[in-house]
Amino acid sequence: MDVNVRSGDSLWYYSQLFNVPLTFIIDSNPGVDPSALAIGQTVRIPGYRSEPYTIEAGDTFWKIASSRRISMDSLALLNQNVNPQNMPIGLLIQVPSRVTSRIVNGNQSYDSTVLNSDLNGLLALYPFVRSESIGQSVMGKDLIELQIGKGPKVVHWNGSFHANEWITTAVIMQFLNDYLLALTNGETIRGLDVGPFYEEVTLSIVPMVDPDGVDLVLDGPPQGPFGEQALQINNGNMAFSGWKANIRGVDLNNQYPANWEIEAERKPKEPSPRDFPGYQPLTEPEAIAMAELAQERQFEKMLAFHTQGEVIYWGYEGLEPPQSLVIVNEFERVSGYQPIRNVYSFAGYKDWFILVYRKPGFTVELGRGVNPLPLSQFDEIYQETIGIFLASLYM
Ligand SMILES: [Zn+2]
Repeated sequence: MDVNVRSGDSLWYYSQLFNVPLTFIIDSNPGVDPSALAIGQTVRIPGYRSEPYTIEAGDTFWKIASSRRISMDSLALLNQNVNPQNMPIGLLIQVPSRVTSRIVNGNQSYDSTVLNSDLNGLLALYPFVRSESIGQSVMGKDLIELQIGKGPKVVHWNGSFHANEWITTAVIMQFLNDYLLALTNGETIRGLDVGPFYEEVTLSIVPMVDPDGVDLVLDGPPQGPFGEQALQINNGNMAFSGWKANIRGVDLNNQYPANWEIEAERKPKEPSPRDFPGYQPLTEPEAIAMAELAQERQFEKMLAFHTQGEVIYWGYEGLEPPQSLVIVNEFERVSGYQPIRNVYSFAGYKDWFILVYRKPGFTVELGRGVNPLPLSQFDEIYQETIGIFLASLYM
């Protein structure tokens, strides 16, 4: 919600007026100098929307404000051209409304169009969330990273490294919405006060690593050469539910230089719906963008969300640090998911991350069944994952 500064207003005053922590108001207005507000300047108030209201007989600011438990001055602020002593019936005014429910519904076919619409909605409501394009997919879709918070501890989550595991994006986005609601409304999640995380943690999220692949699985092959090529790789089969790779048939989670040669030896030798590790490591723009991001951000902890199995892979060749065990034990406690240290699988993002940075990295396999997991499991998976999200912030 936008407001226009009046004489004597301050960001601190807005924080009191709307009962939103000052830090979120400051961070929602990066171009604004809090000590030099100009009259008429626009300031964004996170976690609020302005809603139209039509004046009825007997209405006063006091009556409207008290029935909605908002302050009279918040009405005055939003309606600076209205004379409260003279409001004709039928006059349209603006009423500030605190946002207390989600705009993200993860329980739907969550392709890149839905993602972008939800991202736009969240960024408008919560302008303190930072959004950046970290690269483009093969088809030129932006690979979006979100950042929330400003702590020295950088925690990273990603989803949909594998196309037919797109439900991971939906789970991440719905939790992000719940986190933003809890932050701005001073609420807890599972009894935990999440407010302090904002100052302690910088949360980095890439919700959809493989947007072309996700759209292929959910919406079918796109018009043009990329769609034709994918159809050919899929042996002419129009059903893409088994597709894990990016649009040109490279498995992005087999692309990393961490014993990549072992995978190259035993996996498909050419583009394929799944498992082809590429002709070399790091040939695909999506895999490269994620490697560069790890280098840039220096994650303290990395969680890659996949499906399925209700297990958490947490080791790589014994190179993981001792804290990895402590953290994965907590993940198990809060989710019931089974930790697995080593498995005969290489060249994944988690493997490479542990190899290069020696920091805790995890592949979290959500849910149980055959990929793509049906949406009927969404709510259950979401409930299981909340604890892991929170633990990744406090551990
Ligand atoms: Zn996967």
